[in-house]
Amino acid sequence: MSILFANATVVTMDPARPVLTDAFVAVEGTKILSVGTAHPAGEFDRVVDCAGKVMMPGLVNAHTHVPMTLMRGYGGGCDLHTWLNKYIFPAEARLDDRCVAAGAALGLAEMIATGTTCIADMYMNTETIARTVLDAGISANLACGAVYFGDPADFSPEKCNDCGNHIRLYENWHNAGDGQILVDASIHAEYTSCAPAWEWVADFAQKHNLGMHVHVSETQSEHEKCIEKYGKTPAALLDQYGVWENGGIAAHCVYLSGGDAELFARRGVTAVHNPVSNLKLMSGVAPLFFLRECGMNVALGTDGVASNNSHNMFEEMKVAALIQNYSFGEDHGQLSAADILAMATVNGARALRRNAGVIAPGKIADLILVDFTAPNLFPCHDIMENLVYSAAPSNVVMNMARGKIIYENGTFLTLDMDRIRAEVSNYALPHIFGEK
Ligand SMILES: [Zn+2]
Repeated sequence: MSILFANATVVTMDPARPVLTDAFVAVEGTKILSVGTAHPAGEFDRVVDCAGKVMMPGLVNAHTHVPMTLMRGYGGGCDLHTWLNKYIFPAEARLDDRCVAAGAALGLAEMIATGTTCIADMYMNTETIARTVLDAGISANLACGAVYFGDPADFSPEKCNDCGNHIRLYENWHNAGDGQILVDASIHAEYTSCAPAWEWVADFAQKHNLGMHVHVSETQSEHEKCIEKYGKTPAALLDQYGVWENGGIAAHCVYLSGGDAELFARRGVTAVHNPVSNLKLMSGVAPLFFLRECGMNVALGTDGVASNNSHNMFEEMKVAALIQNYSFGEDHGQLSAADILAMATVNGARALRRNAGVIAPGKIADLILVDFTAPNLFPCHDIMENLVYSAAPSNVVMNMARGKIIYENGTFLTLDMDRIRAEVSNYALPHIFGEK
């Protein structure tokens, strides 16, 4: 299938030519073929007139737990540890594959309709998530965050369910859909596992050259308890076991200390900032200026919908910008709109080892159209300012993932919303929360 987008205003995220007007973007198969102001030669299966629309790279949600969409707003009003222990862990104990499939489909529908084309997800029942992602059409780095609460002295890969889950996930799903799905190795967090598990996961990642996905220093108490227990920060402790050898994703990084950020920069680890979830759970604000000054790549994520309570990456961009102003603006000024957009696109793609996040020839065709005739986007003195501070998810009128249009003008082309609604209402919610 070949598609030509014509009359497009394109926010490319390519530093050489950030914004093009009256441009043509040609897509062939899964890739972008050409980008420019001259009409490309050749015939196209479809021509999309983009007058009044802005094209930008699809949004990359670099840290999420998509089946948690079923728990939207559940246990609101708590700090992270109360919320986890009192509400989330008991609800998760009742999940089965069918619930996970329903929650993942609902979450993916929300993401697709709000402009996301690529995610990094960490959750259990991961093979079920993989099946759902493959049908939905977006790209995903999938990870089953390893937990191990047993005695470290008794650890063996056979006794740790998540070792088997890593192996099955890798063997059955890594590179599925011609690279649509990548499998990352993963440790849920330092405080939910122990040294032999870290060592096993690190070895697994190195053996298969996989990325790594870990929650790191999300709360002050988690960070300080680790130092008390081990004499090291979570970042340094995990480094001792080779966890960061292939780089990876460190979700949150609210409380890095010592040389953590420098270590992460050396190892090529990306900090994934989840400002809405961090604020909702009263965890704090990650110091993005500091992380960037230390040389870290910074990307954005929503975290799970249970603590957000949406997958709205436009909101994530705006809150990220505003909360840095509030917390660090006096010393650092503002992050530019271009910086924030980079966090939500190209930086996330880099973190996920994806050839995407930029609208340029040869890149994966992950792109969205935003309706700039909408009242909230008019007038437009600066396109990037409008995208970061004014745009709403409802302004997304088209989502193309891997060269395929999967959402257009309110219609889902890969998902059946009626079926998803029925499955969530009639099966998943009663199964988890009981009959109302
Ligand atoms: Zn998380």
